[in-house]
Amino acid sequence: MAGRLLSVTLVLAAACLIISPDPGLAETHTGAYRVPVKITDSRIDLSSLMESFSLRSSLDLMGERLDLVGEEGSCRLQIGSPLLLSSGLFAVLTGPVQSIGGRIRVPVDFITKGLPALLGRSASLDEAGGSVILGREGSGSFSGVSPEDLPRYASFIQRDQYVPEERKPERPRGLRVVVLDPGHGGRTPGARGSTGTLEKELVLSVAEKLKTMLEEDLGVKVVLTRTADYFVGLKERTAIANNNRADLFLSIHANAAFRKEVQGYETYYLSFSATDLEASQLAQAENRALGVEGGRDEASLLEAILWDMAQMEFLKESGHLAVKLQDSLVKSMRGQDRGVRQAPLAVLMGARMPAALVEVGFISNPSQEIKLNRDSHQEQIARALFNAIADYNSSLIRGDVAREDL
Ligand SMILES: [Zn+2]
Repeated sequence: MAGRLLSVTLVLAAACLIISPDPGLAETHTGAYRVPVKITDSRIDLSSLMESFSLRSSLDLMGERLDLVGEEGSCRLQIGSPLLLSSGLFAVLTGPVQSIGGRIRVPVDFITKGLPALLGRSASLDEAGGSVILGREGSGSFSGVSPEDLPRYASFIQRDQYVPEERKPERPRGLRVVVLDPGHGGRTPGARGSTGTLEKELVLSVAEKLKTMLEEDLGVKVVLTRTADYFVGLKERTAIANNNRADLFLSIHANAAFRKEVQGYETYYLSFSATDLEASQLAQAENRALGVEGGRDEASLLEAILWDMAQMEFLKESGHLAVKLQDSLVKSMRGQDRGVRQAPLAVLMGARMPAALVEVGFISNPSQEIKLNRDSHQEQIARALFNAIADYNSSLIRGDVAREDL
């Protein structure tokens, strides 16, 4: 009996703390309170939340990234993504953030996962009552996972939210569409040799040769991300590959080093972090040349990881492809094997297919620069890349390459 009285008292005490809604006056509340929200199909209209909880927001120019700022903190959302970022940590919402007819809608668990980060209060949802119950000041904080833990979620995110319906059926047995990406272009020349060889010109020429070989000898459709000397943005390059439903994306670059004697070949595929210092420096240089901050600052890292998610599902195949490209280059060019490396290369992020980046020699090495200018040498590089892609195609047809089961 005494126990029951006590619990009744507690319920009353709790009821007193839950003050009736008073939007716009959130900052005057120190205790718990309740705010009505409208839920439709397990989603909430973001503008109504912003009004109720005095949030501010900014959407980036691409209309994809949304920063929200509340009394106690901020968080970032991305249209089409279920990821929520705050203080360098991630939470995964039950569905992607939607933008329909200019209105942004968030899954209901944004209440429990996102609001605490913005308001510094715990938040729970009374779905039946159509309201949010906010805890006392200081009762809540953001709990998320670190970027390193995120790959565990990748397959879940990929399969359920990112991959458009038409990508879900069994993928083709062999290659049908290949997108080749000649690095740089226009106002970004890339590396420059001592006699004036420009990376952007050299890689375009190699890509054109490889295109002809792939079309004629392998019968695949090839799309170039650029066909002349003009600037193409990073997102555009992967968008070209995604829009063409490419089965393979290959970015072609040439290298440069401070020490003139450095030479050889290297192939990259994507990772969150570079496998070694040189790989990290290369990623920074290439990303910077392409107009992306290659630094390890939090914002760029978080953004990079968002883009990484699309490529995550294909990492095993990308690694397989990279090994074949590297082996073929080293074998037929008889150059130094600088290895297959992984780095957070911005140009590979967002590609929804196996993707790799090759560095087809050092134009900073004077003797290699001379060779690289020769048509026959470029032809030889293109043939080495072709052989690797043809070999990769055969292994696809044989079913040797399986997508990673995360
Ligand atoms: Zn480059």
